[in-house]
Amino acid sequence: MHAALLRQQLAAFLSPAELPDDDAPFLLDQRKRYTSTDCVVVQPASVENVKKTVRFCAQHRIAITPQGGNTGLVGGSVAHGGIVLNLGKLNRIRHINLADNAITVDAGCILQNVQTAAAEHGRFFPLSLASEGSCQIGGNIACNAGGLNVLRYGTMRDLVLGLEVVLPNGELVSHLHPLHKNTTGYELKHLFIGSEGTLGIITGATLKLFAPPQTTETAWVGLDNVQAAISLLSNIKNHFAERLCSFELVSRFALELSAAHSRLAEPLHAEWHILLELTDSLPRHDLQDELAEFLCQNGGEHSIIAQNDQQRRDLWTLRENISAAQRTLGTSIKHDIAVPIAHTAAFIEQCGRDLTAQYPDIQLVVFGHLGDGSLHYNTFFPNELGDSVYRREEAVNATVYRHVLHNHGTIAAEHGIGTLKKSWLPQVRTADEIALMRAIKSQLDPNHLFNPNKLLPD
Ligand code: FAD
Repeated sequence: MHAALLRQQLAAFLSPAELPDDDAPFLLDQRKRYTSTDCVVVQPASVENVKKTVRFCAQHRIAITPQGGNTGLVGGSVAHGGIVLNLGKLNRIRHINLADNAITVDAGCILQNVQTAAAEHGRFFPLSLASEGSCQIGGNIACNAGGLNVLRYGTMRDLVLGLEVVLPNGELVSHLHPLHKNTTGYELKHLFIGSEGTLGIITGATLKLFAPPQTTETAWVGLDNVQAAISLLSNIKNHFAERLCSFELVSRFALELSAAHSRLAEPLHAEWHILLELTDSLPRHDLQDELAEFLCQNGGEHSIIAQNDQQRRDLWTLRENISAAQRTLGTSIKHDIAVPIAHTAAFIEQCGRDLTAQYPDIQLVVFGHLGDGSLHYNTFFPNELGDSVYRREEAVNATVYRHVLHNHGTIAAEHGIGTLKKSWLPQVRTADEIALMRAIKSQLDPNHLFNPNKLLPD
């Protein structure tokens, strides 16, 4: 159906506010790499109107691409034809249940607003990402987002208690309970978590809350090599156990870029850096001394521990600004990978050696959540090459993913598959697994209308 006619028909049951006049902000992806074409953007303001839109689309065989904050990095919320269904107007905090430590929210709530709502009730919602000011809970669930606190609290999969989902036939499946135990058959929520909008539109979620940290200690550690970081991680996990929340790896080059971009001094000079954070839900005045002593005895003597909130914020700014800082380098080919932690040093060493031999003009920006084994492994080429860099993408990916697979890792740790990586899925999932995924997809969405051409290989 032509976009103008489609819009006219949608206007029969959606209000003008649910059909934005200016589609532009919803069409271009975060990296300005993928643009939606020939589509109509809708922003239903109620679950009922999501259902009506889906039923209308099912009846007329119109494709629907669910969209949250559009901060995903793999082209997952970009459409060619049909409807972009943006959840941004479904943004109420529905209920906070302190006895069960649970919060129920609309899927279009911005992550930061959920963190704030929890804090206002003396609770803590631990999912934290650099995009938290714009990404939405529904998008976080659809991608099984990870972020900075996975070490202690797990990924989004570990934080969801219940889901409300509109299926491709327009029916609502709602199981928004605060139960922390419920062994009553297949755990259907896990089908939708990480399904990247291909099986259903998440409209609401009940999420776990935690006690807010009363004590936080943040340290920046300089190390000679990645192997030293792995040893430190192993020892610190063993010593501080669940108090270790974050353990972030930053290469020297990534720190230099971020420090210049953030107009902050580099905290230390070293080849490799770790930003680590310990938290305790009780006031612990001795935690800083214990951390300092531990670092001295475990190869982390070249370190600083933040002495106040401003210092702590500056250290985190240096980590979180790496993504923005690296944009000055030119066109990039990025990788969101994970390898078993024990293999990280070998992976970085071998892959870096092969890529620099292949492309003498390459620049590598390596950083990420070493605590859970995931890394942002980003490659940059001179600015003057512009978009022609993408002609190298297949070969660069082949090298990076060869080393990832050789080291028993995965090609998508937390951003998902989207459009960008779907041809690589058969390298990390067996033919039987992909056949099962296709069977589930066909059962729920026989006409393949939900987020077509994403995730599953052609
Ligand atoms: P979108 O980008 O809008 O959509 C992502 C996918 O989910 C698409 O396939 C879309 O169709 C689907 N989707 C969206 N909403 C729904 C819904 N309600 N129902 C069904 N499907 C839906 N990710 C991490 O895990 N860890 C990080 O540390 C991290 N850091 C980041 C830092 C930056 C600066 C940026 C830009 C991104 C980062 N990300 C990170 C990527 C991350 O996946 C997203 O920021 C976030 O999880 C996606 O949420 P979104 O609302 O923007 O989803």
